[in-house]
Order: sequence, then C-alpha cells, then structure tokens
Amino acid sequence: MTTTATASPIQVPDFQLTPQLVEFRDFVRDYAQKHLGKAAHYDAETKFPRDAVQAAAKLGLLRTTVATEHGGSAMGNLASCVMLEEINAVCVSTGVTISVHNSLVNSLLGKWCTEAQKRRWFPKLVTGEWLGAYCLSEAFSGSDAAALRCEAKKEGDHYVMNGAKLWITTGSEAKLFVVFARTGADRVKGISAFVVERDWPGVSVGKKERKLGLRGSPTTEIVCENVKVPADCLIDKEGNGFTIALDTLDGGRLGIASQSLGIARAAVDLIKVHLAAQVDGKGRPTASQPDQWLLADLAADLEAYRFLTWRAAILRDQGVRCSMEAAMAKSCTSRLANRAARAAVSILGQSGVDGSTAAERVLRDARITEIYEGATDIQRLVIARGLLSPA
Ligand SMILES: Cc1cc2nc3c(=O)[nH]c(=O)nc-3n(C[C@H](O)[C@H](O)[C@H](O)COP(=O)(O)OP(=O)(O)OC[C@H]3O[C@@H](n4cnc5c(N)ncnc54)[C@H](O)[C@@H]3O)c2cc1C
Repeated sequence: MTTTATASPIQVPDFQLTPQLVEFRDFVRDYAQKHLGKAAHYDAETKFPRDAVQAAAKLGLLRTTVATEHGGSAMGNLASCVMLEEINAVCVSTGVTISVHNSLVNSLLGKWCTEAQKRRWFPKLVTGEWLGAYCLSEAFSGSDAAALRCEAKKEGDHYVMNGAKLWITTGSEAKLFVVFARTGADRVKGISAFVVERDWPGVSVGKKERKLGLRGSPTTEIVCENVKVPADCLIDKEGNGFTIALDTLDGGRLGIASQSLGIARAAVDLIKVHLAAQVDGKGRPTASQPDQWLLADLAADLEAYRFLTWRAAILRDQGVRCSMEAAMAKSCTSRLANRAARAAVSILGQSGVDGSTAAERVLRDARITEIYEGATDIQRLVIARGLLSPA
C-alpha cells in the first residue's frame, strides 16, 4: 500500500461498545446497585450471597455463555467481561460465583459436551437451579495441574472415582462439578474430564477454607470416595482432560481479569472521592501532586487494561486461540487491582483500614486475583511461551 492510495478509506478499530452492550452494561450496573448492597455483610459474616446470585439468575446473567438452543443468551465473552466488571466493582463474592459458573462450567460444557449431555444439564444451569464448580486443583497440584492424583478407573459401564479436590470455588453450594481425574498413567494424556453430580453417593464437601478475602464465596474441598460415575458423564474423550482444562482457563482468566478491573475501579473510585473532598476555603482542590499522579496513573492503566481484556475476549468470541492475550490481560489487571487497592488504603489513611470505607476489603479481595486461575508468574510464563514459540 502507498500513502497516496485513496480507493478505500483506512479502517480504524472502533473502541466503543455497541449500543446493545452499553444497554447491557447499564442493565447489569442497575442489578449491582439494587442487589449487591450487602457486599460488606457477606464479607463480615462469610455468608454466601445466595439472594444476589439468584437475582442474577432471574435476570439471565447465568446464561451468557450458553447457546440459545440450550436456553442461553449466547452473548459471549466480551459481554461476560463487561458484566463481570460491573458486578465485581461492587461484590467480588457474587462476581467469582458467576464467573466460575459461566466461564469455567457453562462454556466448557457448551464447547466439549454432546447434545445429549447439554440437554441433560443446561436446563438446570441456565436458570440457576444448579450452580457449577470447576475441580482441578488438589493438595499437591496447583500451578502444576498435570500432577493431579484423583483417579477414575473404568469398570464396565462406569468409572470409579477416588480423590480429593481442594480450593473449589462455590464448592458447598454447587450441584454440578466438572472434575478432572486420572484415567491413565501419562502425566498429561492420562487426564480426563467428567461431570459429577453433588447428590451421587460418595460425593461430599470437605473442609471450608478460611480466607484473606472473597469471604462470601465458599471455597471448599470436594471429596470423591468410590463414586460411581456413569460412562456417559465423561466429557469429550478419555485423555483429553488437560486440553479441556487449559482451553477453559483461557476464558476463565478473562473472567478474573474483569474481576480485577472491577476491583481496580472500586479502588480508584475510593481515591477519587477522597481526593475530591480535599479543597481549600474557596472550594479549589488541594490534593497533593503525588496523590494526583498516583490517581492519574491508576486511571490510565485501568482504561488501557480494559481494552487488553476486551481484545482477548473478542478473539475468543471469534474462536481464535487467545492463551497469550488472556494471560496478558489477567497478569496486568490483577497486578493493577493490587496496586490500586494498596494505594486506596494508603491515601485514605485511617478510614482505609478501619472498615468505615470499603478500602480494606478491596485490598484483601484483590490479593486473590493474582493467585487463582493461574498465579501471576505462571501467566508470565504463558506469555513468554507465546512469544518464544508462536503456534
Ligand atoms: C480463593 C481461591 C479459589 C480457588 N478456586 C479454585 C477452583 O474453583 N477450582 C480449582 O481447581 N482451583 C481453585 N483454586 C486453586 C488455584 O487455582 C491455585 O491456588 C493456583 O493454581 C495456585 O496453586 P497453588 O496454590 O498450589 O500454588 P503453587 O502452585 O504452590 O504456587 C505458589 C507460587 O509459586 C510460584 N510458582 C509455582 N510454580 C511455578 C513455576 N513453574 N514457575 C514459576 N513460578 C512458579 C508462583 O509464583 C505461585 O504464586 C482457588 C484458589 C483460591 C486461592
């Protein structure tokens, strides 16, 4: 192309949400204002936000990643990101429940299950009658997910599952678990994915974790003792579990990136309100320049990382693999959430730590975004791998 070419106008990317997505964002913002006012209470009482999650289900927020023929709204990953930022800006416990249900469970079933399996489980999942949980981690298998030991031994028309999954979000509330278990000796190809229902004999909820943040979200052990898993609950085919787990985490990381954006936004808003109240006798701003610089940098990063997240979501909606882009989004946004939350606590001083504002809760909640669905250092390895050995 030459600079004198005039045949067609140069296309520029449109950085605006469509009118439909703006309307959807405002709809979710309205839901957050009306139903998430008890975020501090859920945190203080370590209480699951059941009412808020059920209200979300009634408004159709638990079906954004499900196809319309299975009762979903098929809005996709970008819409889910927009939704999750709004919810997490107010209540992260509700946010992570919805993120796991939509991006780790519903989207996995939608992509990898048979029609019969979808017809069996989606009616309950899209209405919120059942919540879903994603069971990959174990006591000796976190970042190194392929080290998992939970096993599923084929016996005739079923598998016998034994093992314990740890740190499972929504563990005590979920009725459907996607469980990754060992069906063979090969470290990676020996892993398969199954649907396990809460009410089956041998399935139990073990210890509940006492956590720094996200305290309204129950994180528990899920124990399987001689659970008879029918063969038709195997997802896709034997040996494909690790591929399914990692592919699903690309979408899950967009959910956590959006959660991080929500947390960062909440922290920036706290700082804004605090600094805007610092005025002289004539109403002129008196906030110190260092505080203004900090606010400016956080606000600029928030805008930039939102686009980073949305770009990865758009790729995923287009069916393009986005492991590196999702890892970039998660590592940047989660670190921003922590920086912004730390700044809010510092700038607010006493009211940043005494619970009279949301700052200390925001700081506790922010920490987890750098750990789950792949710790920050793991995200950096995914990014480096993408750069050094592109597919
Ligand atoms: C609140 C919460 C909810 C969770 N929910 C779920 C869930 O629903 N389902 C589920 O399956 N799991 C869940 N998890 C587990 C989560 O995914 C793991 O905690 C995470 O993968 C990290 O594993 P780990 O805790 O064993 O830490 P480790 O794997 O021990 O890692 C600790 C640190 O070591 C470093 N590290 C480890 N390995 C490497 C490496 N190879 N290279 C460089 N650095 C490395 C990283 O910096 C990391 O931060 C949850 C965890 C939390 C805290």
